[in-house]
Amino acid sequence: MSKDHYNTLGISKDASDDEIKKAFRKLAHKYHPDKGGGDEAKFKEINEAYQILSDKQKRAQYDQFGSAFEGAGGGASAGFGGFDFSGFSGGGPGGVKFEFGGDGGGFGDIFGDIFGGGGGEGRRQQQERGNDVSVDVEISLEEAVTDTERDVNLHLSSVCSKCDGSGAELGSNIKSCRTCSGTGQVKKEKRTILGVFAQMEICQDCQGQGEKPEKNCSKCGGDGRTKESRNIKIKIPAGIATGQTIRLSGQGEVGFRPKSGKSVPGDLYLTVHIKPHQIFKRNGDDIIYNLEINFSQAVFGDKIEVQTLQGKIKLKIPAGIQSGKIIKLKDKGLPHLQGRGKGNMFVVIIIKTPEKLSKKQKRLFEELKKEGL
Ligand SMILES: [Zn+2]
Ligand SMILES: [Zn+2]
Repeated sequence: MSKDHYNTLGISKDASDDEIKKAFRKLAHKYHPDKGGGDEAKFKEINEAYQILSDKQKRAQYDQFGSAFEGAGGGASAGFGGFDFSGFSGGGPGGVKFEFGGDGGGFGDIFGDIFGGGGGEGRRQQQERGNDVSVDVEISLEEAVTDTERDVNLHLSSVCSKCDGSGAELGSNIKSCRTCSGTGQVKKEKRTILGVFAQMEICQDCQGQGEKPEKNCSKCGGDGRTKESRNIKIKIPAGIATGQTIRLSGQGEVGFRPKSGKSVPGDLYLTVHIKPHQIFKRNGDDIIYNLEINFSQAVFGDKIEVQTLQGKIKLKIPAGIQSGKIIKLKDKGLPHLQGRGKGNMFVVIIIKTPEKLSKKQKRLFEELKKEGL
């Protein structure tokens, strides 16, 4: 049987790799057996042509020896036995995702390259485990002093309210999957240059659950889950710092047909960010605060009201304090995360030199000057 692979793909003999890929992609979409007007025989022929022409070595051989090479090499045409075309059924609304059981000599990878990532949330992409979800939350430094709570509203895959997560339409039963005889696995043949190997794979019909609804739920399409707005209360522990992440096990998206008990939900990861504070700097669990005082306060000492994370306190400034001196306020920092004890607050004294003086102030400072101050 002589075939012209270039003709099959509708390209010229000097077509570039890119042109081959494009032509194949277009034709594969047009003829793929699951589509209206699809043609399995034609599709196989296109695959065959592509498998040879997309492989530099095979293409060179084909160009040199023509179809004769196929009979001798046996690689390409025989390789299609490994593909399961039933795998094309059930494309989701986002488009069809191509999945091949056997890789037929690297073909699966090429498919992935061309079609991968393009699919929406097609039913072929269902996973037994729900997706992990991550969110960012911003809190104030004051909020980090004590345990705090946040409500986050997330749009997540949740248990379908109509079927309660079973995936079955009302009145329809869950039955053992016929494709895999209830085992959840199917045997696939993998062809390699060393021969044919049998490989067990997860049954795509039941996603490895071994059972499926007789009739799919009309709301979730048998998935057992739908996207819903979910309000989740998250407890944020005292002492948390920017960039730290809280993991809430099982609070992510629900898995495939959650009621079956055979899938697990994903986790929710919450990353905390602390808003920069107007007057405080954080250093670990310590707080640093610059306090400006004037000359006379430094000379005579004073009692000044200062803000701390725990509220206002009266701070005693000793007489004769120097600029740059640090006053430590014990335990006025942040609590250690999940531990005992607290950080401290450090008040850095800054003596402010007056820049504009009234006539009277000027006269007084001149007096001081005469006194050597
Ligand atoms: Zn449902
Ligand atoms: Zn099955």
